[in-house]
Amino acid sequence: GQCAAACPFGAITEVNDVGRVKAALQDPDKIVIFQTAPAVRVGLGEAFGMDPGTFVEGKMVASLRALGANYVFDTDFGADLTIMEEASELMHRVQSTTSPKPQLTSCCPGWVEFVEIYFPQLIPNLSTTKSPISILSPVIKTWFAETHKIDAKQIVNVCVTPCTAKKSEIMRPQLSSSGAYWKTDGMQDTDICITTRELAAWIKEENIDFDALEDSTFDKVFGESSGGGKIFGNSGGVMESALRSAYYFHTGEKAPAEFIPFEPVRGLNGVKEADVTIGEHTLKIAAISGLGNARKFLDTHFADNTLTRYSFIEVMACPGGCIGGGGQPLVKMPQVKKVQQARIDSLYQSDSNTNVKASWENPEIKELYDDFLGNPLSERSEEFLHTTYEDQSELLGPMKHVTPQTNPMSK
Ligand code: SF4
Repeated sequence: GQCAAACPFGAITEVNDVGRVKAALQDPDKIVIFQTAPAVRVGLGEAFGMDPGTFVEGKMVASLRALGANYVFDTDFGADLTIMEEASELMHRVQSTTSPKPQLTSCCPGWVEFVEIYFPQLIPNLSTTKSPISILSPVIKTWFAETHKIDAKQIVNVCVTPCTAKKSEIMRPQLSSSGAYWKTDGMQDTDICITTRELAAWIKEENIDFDALEDSTFDKVFGESSGGGKIFGNSGGVMESALRSAYYFHTGEKAPAEFIPFEPVRGLNGVKEADVTIGEHTLKIAAISGLGNARKFLDTHFADNTLTRYSFIEVMACPGGCIGGGGQPLVKMPQVKKVQQARIDSLYQSDSNTNVKASWENPEIKELYDDFLGNPLSERSEEFLHTTYEDQSELLGPMKHVTPQTNPMSK
């Protein structure tokens, strides 16, 4: 960046991810593919003076096209794919006598790292399913590249996210599986991550009149999503979405009306709990946002040995979920709750506007499984759509042998 160039000592190093995207766009050998996370479209408009929560999906896609994108795909499709695997995994766990319970969501890198460092004993509980971004990228570099006769080495996958932690998530080696498919070393599934704020600044820098952009739509084959994919951007969304599909996977019937909307997990409370009946099973579930709330919840349930009563727990590191992520347009303190609620309402509205409510109903998802993956949890699905975690408690130094209950860092 400019600072680094101007610093006489070369001491300031700034990550310039937008600069890397621009370089890729200028390289005629590269095919630049963007995917946009669910919460970006309800935050981006604020950077251009629009009301909080304004739904700018069409202008967001148009702006990426104006910036030179070769393809624009929707991470909401990735969210549907995550649910296909994660809900299948959930019902497998619920019925198994040996799989550790509860299942913990794994789509938030802030939470995943928190478990790896502070609660490594819960690593077997983390869903092995990749996050929506990290699940879509290998599918782009394998199936999409193959069916469109594109050399995967030319593809530069760029994700646009509300999340600063995704910048390190995409570097995890265990999240890159397309290289093995093409027998190519060093291929990363997602190449670059930019935030909502970085995209907004770039649009301004290029003097693109955001207001005046005509709505555009996502490219096929990863452009359609169910309502379940759309609500991933707020706390409780992954849970509600998973239940819509888990119900179908277990009973063979569409989830009943009381599942949609599933009010007990909606809203800005830090911890939301419910009991849900799916067939012969009653699942105790919780949706938590904010790592402080997660820490308290785990400490309490470890202390009285009640964690295993739960079947499924969703945790998002940011209060309210990704709509309140660190890469979203900044909000002044007294406005935070109001703005977060407006962004949440906007995502639920887009869910209401779609007839396809559950991930398994998405026709593009069906096509991907029919043509490439087979079934959820198939060998190929396991290879490309699932990941592993590592105990990172050594980062705590001498405190690593302290149990979570007595760990002063966990207070
Ligand atoms: Fe990123 Fe926050 Fe969303 Fe977690 S909750 S994925 S840290 S934006």
